[in-house]
Amino acid sequence: MSNLPEIDTPYMLGFLTTLLNTPSPTGFTEAAIAFTGETLKTFPALKLARTRKGALTATWRGDQNEGARAVTAHVDTLGGMVKEIKSNGRLKLSRIGGFAWNTIEGEGCSVLTRSGRQVRGSILLTKASSHIFAAEVGDLKRGEDTLEVRLDARTSSTRETMELGIGVGDFVVFDPRVEINAGFVRSRHLDDKACVAVIVAAVKALNEAGRKPARTTTLFFSNYEEVGHGAAAGIPADVEELLVVDMAAVGEGQNSDEFHASLCIKDSGGPYHHDMSNRLRALAEKNEIPYKVDIYPHYGSDGEAWWNAGADAAVALIGPGVDASHNYERTHTEALVETTKWVMAYLLEE
Ligand SMILES: [Zn+2]
Repeated sequence: MSNLPEIDTPYMLGFLTTLLNTPSPTGFTEAAIAFTGETLKTFPALKLARTRKGALTATWRGDQNEGARAVTAHVDTLGGMVKEIKSNGRLKLSRIGGFAWNTIEGEGCSVLTRSGRQVRGSILLTKASSHIFAAEVGDLKRGEDTLEVRLDARTSSTRETMELGIGVGDFVVFDPRVEINAGFVRSRHLDDKACVAVIVAAVKALNEAGRKPARTTTLFFSNYEEVGHGAAAGIPADVEELLVVDMAAVGEGQNSDEFHASLCIKDSGGPYHHDMSNRLRALAEKNEIPYKVDIYPHYGSDGEAWWNAGADAAVALIGPGVDASHNYERTHTEALVETTKWVMAYLLEE
């Protein structure tokens, strides 16, 4: 029988929507970290701090300090940077994080200038018009040389674009296009903002029920995951095990789906901690949380970043199924709720 506290799902979706609408490509995560911190400030049991690298930590004193734990999710997302201002005034992009170029074609975007201005634009093929380029529009291979940012500003030269305050190295953020329909949540960057929302919802539910973790637990909101070294530093040295909460990869050949939480047993970095994974399975079963077990073929996590940095600790990974990851992503509220239950069950486990 499960006696987990009630989850405030509208609150979770509200927080998630605001977070999704807060741009945070890796390297430019301050606003998303600040918003998460402001939200967690309302729970006085949490002791908030920042790492030098900019991650947010929230330490929650448990019933016992032995065997300290950590739970992590990342606020940073995919994005772009101005690589070059072209002679036609348009922008060439450099990628932040790993995504296929075709997944951003046609997307709206904002260039964040050094002075704090935002210039709107859209990402288009260099040969975009069917009336001019005919079959080439379909045939051209999408890449850094064939996609460009068309700015919503009167510019047709490098100089005019520079006069807008735009320079090489400015961040370019993709429109998150958040929609919630029939329980489905659709947006870019559900990876991994969905799981940040899951952790916040778990904190709120436990807090309102007057519960606290069995062991002292650090919630670690990472800000460099998409480039591979997010949790490499910043998790307290006495933490003995880490639960990574990150999206499950849904698609052909996968066990995961958009309605369940998944336990990732192995990914590109190899198997996770066997005993900890088995404990998570037992916890799910005890608490009547339906779940999937899966292997993600092209995937790395902040757990591995920590391991690769030398952590001597157990690491396991759970998360909601996300369709079309690193593309226009989608999950379902059911998966978010089940993942939240699983996180609560873990926090309460003695
Ligand atoms: Zn992720």
